[in-house]
Amino acid sequence: MRKILRVNMSDLSVREEDMSQSDFWLGGRGLTSRIIAREVDPGAHPLGAQNKLVFAPGSLGGLGVPCSGRLSVGGKSPLTGGIKEANAGGMAALRLSSLGLAALVVEGRPADGGPYILWVGKSGAKLLPAHNLKGLGNYELVEQLLDTSQGAATISIGPAGENCLPVAGVAVTNIEGYPARFAARGGLGAVMGSKGLKAILIEKSDNHRAGPADPESFKKICQQFAQEVSSLRKGLTQYGTANLVSLVNEMGGLPTRNYSAGKFEDADKISAGALIEKISRRGGKMGHPCHTGCVIRCSNIYNDSQGKYLTSSLEYETIALLGSNCGIGDLDAIAAMDRICDDYGLDTIEMGATLGVAMEAGILEFGDQQGAIGLLHQVGKASSVLGRLLGHGVQVAGQVLGVKRIPAVKGQSMAAYDPRVFKGTGVSYATSPMGADHTAGNLLPGKQGYSWPVRKGVARCSQVEGQWQLSEETQVITTVCDLTGLCFFIGTTRENLDYVARLFNAYYGFEAERYDVVQWGRQVLLEEIDFNRRAGFTGVDDRLPEFFQTEPLPPSGEVFDIPEKDLKKLFK
Ligand code: SF4
Repeated sequence: MRKILRVNMSDLSVREEDMSQSDFWLGGRGLTSRIIAREVDPGAHPLGAQNKLVFAPGSLGGLGVPCSGRLSVGGKSPLTGGIKEANAGGMAALRLSSLGLAALVVEGRPADGGPYILWVGKSGAKLLPAHNLKGLGNYELVEQLLDTSQGAATISIGPAGENCLPVAGVAVTNIEGYPARFAARGGLGAVMGSKGLKAILIEKSDNHRAGPADPESFKKICQQFAQEVSSLRKGLTQYGTANLVSLVNEMGGLPTRNYSAGKFEDADKISAGALIEKISRRGGKMGHPCHTGCVIRCSNIYNDSQGKYLTSSLEYETIALLGSNCGIGDLDAIAAMDRICDDYGLDTIEMGATLGVAMEAGILEFGDQQGAIGLLHQVGKASSVLGRLLGHGVQVAGQVLGVKRIPAVKGQSMAAYDPRVFKGTGVSYATSPMGADHTAGNLLPGKQGYSWPVRKGVARCSQVEGQWQLSEETQVITTVCDLTGLCFFIGTTRENLDYVARLFNAYYGFEAERYDVVQWGRQVLLEEIDFNRRAGFTGVDDRLPEFFQTEPLPPSGEVFDIPEKDLKKLFK
């Protein structure tokens, strides 16, 4: 039976409780959102004692299922004011799952403000004072923590989280022990900081999970799934997500200079080709897995010009938001900014969008690399009024600086797909309970339109008809990935829902079909939407900013023209 570990920061106690057998399918986002929706008052202050922070591996995590090592982090978001789940790769989910833990629930606030470290191992869990670690960046912090715990995984925050900035994310160590994987979005690092929790260290242990109900069949399905996923996702293994730079630029939807254009003149300099050339010449690595058991391996290791490790992984969203969106066409500068963000514990998407509005407001020129790096330091250290302002994200910064073009929904910045061209993703940005989040329901482009997921009847990303149905279905399938711990790069396809059902049946002795799995995903989404409604969200919050409807995007001239009546149809 899986356990839930309750960590009370007010009285510094830790206690274990059993999870109900009938909730066997609940894990990851399903569990984080269920706990938040049932236990947190929707009106609670996100940084107050009443909010909770939940960490949960997926319900298929740690069982040997390929690509199932995502860790969900959930709470009420200081950025959106609604329910939030952000998930990360890395090793923490697998370590928690091996210990038989379905979730860690962090509650209350310490009287002395902390910081504390939570140590979790096979003999239990305990909170340890960590005043000596206060203010450390993620890299130095993790180096110290892992020094005496070989094979352990950590979950941590940098100074941005300690300063409770709503742009702060939660770092997770990857296979090499670098704090380079992030549950970045929604300011959950600030919630961790508000609880006085600097880090969680999870010891490596033998697997404490019961074996599958049908071991032969479970092994066979895992092998089949691994073969299929690795052969279908070869492009991600070879080029990583950076492959999207050229593709999205070609389609005219690459965020450029604060979403004022969809094509960037220096896209070649930040493309997958340029990335691979630098990585190979400097002894870095492509085709890198962020956790053991990933057969896609989209991650990379990026070294500096001296061949020394700089950052991992340089991903499409980071390249586009800190690059083209800020008019910066230099991969080394973007990699340096990525490293700075990871060290302070900042969300690179939110920071790239925020720097974009700061540039539009005239604080810096577009393309000013050194200026952008300087601002990131000010944000990370919260060392100036401007740094603190930008640390509140694109919505607040844009409003205070008087910028009209603010690319955000529910207070959270968009990812790197302009919704005027990628209309299905625009529907997801508008309607997801998570705010503008590509990981909630992304409709990725192909050369002739949608390549993934392929759906009959919606031929082009810019077609109006059918986008709301496509978005709703993709949001449900993505939620299934998030609750099982599967990386959504396996493909948000209907066929993968059948794999999920078969894996549950072989492991848990259940008799699920695709329909049941869809209902699980839908149920989680409806609970999240209900929490947001109780927190005060209305239909007005399910809209894109007006400029996407009124400003044609150069050079395509596209606008976001999905009618509001379509946006209202989702999840009814
Ligand atoms: S596909 Fe990429 S992000 Fe997903 S688990 Fe593998 S390495 Fe991590």
